[in-house]
Amino acid sequence: MSSTFLPPTIQPIYSAIAQRAGVDLSVLRLDCMHPWVNGNKWFKLKYNLLEAKQKNCTTLLTFGGAYSNHIFATAAAGNLFGFRTIGMIRGEERLPLNPTLSYAMQQGMQLYYLDRQKYRQRQTTALQAELQQRFGEVFIIPEGGSNLNGVRGCMEIVNTAAFDTVCVACGTGTTLAGIILSLQKGQCAIGFPVLKDGGFLAPEIDSWLKNYLASGLSIVDKAIASWELICDYHMGGYAKVNEELLMFSQQFTQEHGIPLDYVYTAKMFYGVMDLMKQGFFHRGDRLLLIHTGGLQGNLGMEKRLLQ
Ligand SMILES: *Cc1c(COP(=O)(O)O)cnc(C)c1O
Repeated sequence: MSSTFLPPTIQPIYSAIAQRAGVDLSVLRLDCMHPWVNGNKWFKLKYNLLEAKQKNCTTLLTFGGAYSNHIFATAAAGNLFGFRTIGMIRGEERLPLNPTLSYAMQQGMQLYYLDRQKYRQRQTTALQAELQQRFGEVFIIPEGGSNLNGVRGCMEIVNTAAFDTVCVACGTGTTLAGIILSLQKGQCAIGFPVLKDGGFLAPEIDSWLKNYLASGLSIVDKAIASWELICDYHMGGYAKVNEELLMFSQQFTQEHGIPLDYVYTAKMFYGVMDLMKQGFFHRGDRLLLIHTGGLQGNLGMEKRLLQ
């Protein structure tokens, strides 16, 4: 299944800020593995698709907001690997469809809308049973691909001991949990929540770690690597941007030739650059920044910013 994908490249970043801090900076380009199916969302989907296939389920059903990277990736991966896909979208239908949803539709995803109250019940067995009734046998993947299969896939993101510290943007923290479980001795991870007051993620990440280790999936037989959250770079909250972030993102792309998405990666990269200026990292630290993809979201975001 993975043969369609290029292994993610590690790209060194030459930056005056990093040099002054004595820090070695590299980016893991999950955004470049495949033209449509990429980023951490592919890793979160991989074992969900394999489980669906094992269960002879030919239809995937999942949930997401109207700009969701997960909806985009599920539609694309479903098409690529021969699944029917159904997207349950939060809120009301708005026409014309935004770039995310019109792409999903082109990939063959059937779109349905759930009002916010109903959407909140997406994890309940009652709503899931209702959906099974309505659509027949479907393989239900939670929003964002955030389940233990997702954690398992994210354990395959980093597989090198050549770095000391791995940095990643966090929404639910599932990706960070997978990365933590995969780290080798002496490596640590830093998560940058993109939501306001992101500290609430810490106990959730702890439960992902515990639940994974307690599940039959676990092949981890070692101490859990150390990790922390840095919650100061949400820029006002989820999908909020300010002038400074926009400027930073444009400048970074110009200087290094790496596009960043505004919702996730731009905030993490901004945070890392700022922390380097403050002397947060040790001299000689080798940092690996995970580019988790999400670039498709910039289309819709730029449209909104121009309005
Ligand atoms: C979803 C997403 C994340 C966050 O992943 P979580 O596992 O929810 O923490 C980070 N970056 C991008 C680009 C994403 O689409």
